[in-house]
Amino acid sequence: MSISYKTPASFSGFSCLGGDCEDTCCRNWEVKLDRQHYELVKNAMLSNEHDKAVFDNSIYLNGRSIVSDHDFSFVRMREDGFCSMLDSKGLCSIHAKFGISTLGDVCTMYPRVVSRCGDTFELSGALSCPEVVRRCIDAKNPLKLKRFKPAELPRSNNYPIQRELSQLDDDFYSQHFSMVRDAIMAMMANDEYDFETRLYLITNLANKVSDFYHRGCDKSAGGQLDVVLSAYAERGFISKLDMFIKDYDAGSPISLLVTHSVLSIKLQQASTENISLLYNDLIQFYCHSNENIPEMLTVKVNNIIKELDFNQQQYIEQSLTRYILNCLYREWFVTMPDPFTYMQMLLVRISILRTLIYLDVGRDSGLNTKELEKKIVYVMYNFARNIDQNLEFLKVVYNALSEQNMMNFDFSPAFIRI
Ligand code: SF4
Repeated sequence: MSISYKTPASFSGFSCLGGDCEDTCCRNWEVKLDRQHYELVKNAMLSNEHDKAVFDNSIYLNGRSIVSDHDFSFVRMREDGFCSMLDSKGLCSIHAKFGISTLGDVCTMYPRVVSRCGDTFELSGALSCPEVVRRCIDAKNPLKLKRFKPAELPRSNNYPIQRELSQLDDDFYSQHFSMVRDAIMAMMANDEYDFETRLYLITNLANKVSDFYHRGCDKSAGGQLDVVLSAYAERGFISKLDMFIKDYDAGSPISLLVTHSVLSIKLQQASTENISLLYNDLIQFYCHSNENIPEMLTVKVNNIIKELDFNQQQYIEQSLTRYILNCLYREWFVTMPDPFTYMQMLLVRISILRTLIYLDVGRDSGLNTKELEKKIVYVMYNFARNIDQNLEFLKVVYNALSEQNMMNFDFSPAFIRI
């Protein structure tokens, strides 16, 4: 079998900014330490009493009921949110004392994510890194892939593989993943249509195919998949969806109700995280009472969108499109029971992110492109860090939506027309 190595062109040649980065990856983070490196660090630090005490205070075992080698243990963060392994100069003490080979998979590879899709190794970048966000949102051709060499990775062999596609012959869901993902990404990237139309198109498609294309489906889904994918590429059909979503009126601010609830939970759980601080500032700025915050913010967001300069609006939508394409490429909908479940969660995540970006941009008039980019990058990487790549938190959101019966296509337009 010939193996290929692919990465989005925008991520090709990525290198960490190190001391020039506006943030650090060692703060307010759940840093996993895989089993192999747990043992290596432990053995290296047993050699003297001081290091042993640091190890005992800084590393703890994963106490959850289901634990894999990948999330075997964690590095504790200090009260101020920084990694407890940082030395007095703010540098990683494990790296400094024992070298890169002792560092855990996450610390070595971040923000790189490698997955294996059949005979292709896919490398992508996590959007919790501001430099990845900058490269992603300014990508000239967001669908273009380039070859990468494993030798370019921080660890050129034995690098962690985030996920691997099942190679079972009878796994129809996995076998057709690449084809369906490519079709969805091409629809999302097609900026001939409005941003909301494209979002509605891919959600509508995910909902339609999920009837017969899901985990455990049988091979008879093959013919239906081809028919549906061709129908969703027809202009006349897309125009109908375009008209529907443009005329849609949820009647009540469903999207802002969910956004406000999610961000309020975040504020309660982690009031010092950047996304909590930002949301708190936005509420103080826009809301002069605590009553009906979702309604007040809905009016503000709609006014901001109406009054926004055309080029700024285009730039925000282009950035969001590229954020979504990064998620579709890196996260893999096949990790969910069906494409619609993944897509509905993605819609909710994007509606929160959009709301934060518009509210933040709306506080300043006359932003130039550089200033606008800076704001978008800040909101995106902090949103990814604190909410979007926090799987435990997303599970809470998913359970709450399910309890309210909102993991349902009837609610999808409300998360698109924010
Ligand atoms: S956030 Fe990204 S650019 Fe910044 S230090 Fe971490 S990996 Fe490097």
